[in-house]
Amino acid sequence: MTDENQTDTDQTPGLTCNRCGKPITPETAVLTPTGYHCQECVRAQQKIFDTARPLDIVIGFVIAAVLSYLGGLLASRLGFFTLLIAPGVGSLIANAVRVAVKRRRSKLLNSAILAGALIGGIPLMIPEILLLFRGESNWLSLILKIVYIALAASAAYAQTKGIRI
Ligand SMILES: [Zn+2]
Repeated sequence: MTDENQTDTDQTPGLTCNRCGKPITPETAVLTPTGYHCQECVRAQQKIFDTARPLDIVIGFVIAAVLSYLGGLLASRLGFFTLLIAPGVGSLIANAVRVAVKRRRSKLLNSAILAGALIGGIPLMIPEILLLFRGESNWLSLILKIVYIALAASAAYAQTKGIRI
C-alpha cells in the first residue's frame, strides 16, 4: 500500500503534457487515450469537435421538445406500454436532430436536446396537475408520464452523447 503511494508521488514532478510538453500537476492533468494532456490542450482539442452553430442549439432544443411532447401524447394512450416506447422516442429525437443539424455536434447541443426533451414533456402532465387542483388525482397516469419523460430524455441524451447507430 505505502509502496504504491510512494511511486505515485515520485512520478508526479516529471509529469508533462503529452501534446505540448508543458509540465503539469496531477491536479490539472487530464488522462486521454493518448496520455496525459494539460487543460489548454484538452480545451483546444474539444473545440475541433464542437462544430455546432448557435442556430443548431435552437434547432436541437425545439426538435427535442416537439418530439418529446408528440411522442408523449401518443404514448399516454398506451398505459404501461408508454415505458416501452420512451427509449424509441429518445432515439428518434437523437436521429432527427442529427439530421437537422447535419451531424454537427457539441456539448451545448447535447444539453439543449436533454433540456428540450424534458421541457417538451411538461405540458403532457397538465391534465393530471389540473386534476390535483380539483382535489382529484390520477397518480398512476402522472407517474407514468414522469417516467416516460425521464426515459425519453435520457435515451436521447445518451445517444447524442456517444452511441452512434
Ligand atoms: Zn498541453
